[in-house]
Amino acid sequence: MAEPVWIGVGEKANANQDFDNKRLKEKGKECEKDKYYVPVNSDDLKEMLKPVRSNMHLHDLILKMVKLTGLISVTFKDLLIPGEGTGTGFIQRIRRVLGRCPCPECKDHTNTRRYAILSVATALHVLHEDPESCKSTIDVKFIRETVKMILDYDDKTKDPEKCPSLYGYRISDTDKDIDVNSDWCCIEFVSHKMDLVSDLEKTLTEFQDLQKTVYNYFKQDHKYKGHVIIIGHPHGLQKQLSFSKTMAERKPLKEVRDTQRWCRYKYDATTCQGFS
Ligand SMILES: [Zn+2]
Ligand SMILES: [Zn+2]
Repeated sequence: MAEPVWIGVGEKANANQDFDNKRLKEKGKECEKDKYYVPVNSDDLKEMLKPVRSNMHLHDLILKMVKLTGLISVTFKDLLIPGEGTGTGFIQRIRRVLGRCPCPECKDHTNTRRYAILSVATALHVLHEDPESCKSTIDVKFIRETVKMILDYDDKTKDPEKCPSLYGYRISDTDKDIDVNSDWCCIEFVSHKMDLVSDLEKTLTEFQDLQKTVYNYFKQDHKYKGHVIIIGHPHGLQKQLSFSKTMAERKPLKEVRDTQRWCRYKYDATTCQGFS
């Protein structure tokens, strides 16, 4: 059996690797790199986060970030070789809507109801077999049959089918228009399970408040600047964290949307396929 090529965040994926996810999952069990990852609920994670304990805001920020990160599971039915692929996504925005919920459970009903649209950032290659070919946002359609985001799939839960999940609805943004070689995209997921939505809204608000506090703190004290923590689902398995040992290199690429800046980071934290 050929060795899979490991894909890091932001690297271009070879779509063929995503098709054979089962094989990667099996491979993941014996993957050499997996021993470097730290499970979400482990004592090892408490140990790894000890250096940031002195700043409880940063410590809490990381844990909220863990909560808002989920496994993206994609079923390819429209391609020559059907299969599955996985990636990792982060919930950035939640808005409530009153209307016809587009999820598979509701889409045949004409009744309006309360539901939420959750914007999730991920890598475009998780969904698109050739992200380089997309010249603009209009080129990218939501071409996959089923896209799901599975939450709370970590070392406490054995079965991803029993975890709460969101339904993938459409790709809303790609930043293909701003002329940097980026692999970023934003997917809109929906859910009408309002208890789950309220819970995520609370975590997101807390995360955003902590983000401001931590940003202001580190503007004055750069002690942890440049260190990288990656949260994700290597090989589509349970959520893990990966830590860098050295400072990351940062290269600004372009100013976008007034206050935002696209940057490329070079780091040495270990990643496997599925972390993107
Ligand atoms: Zn691995
Ligand atoms: Zn629905």
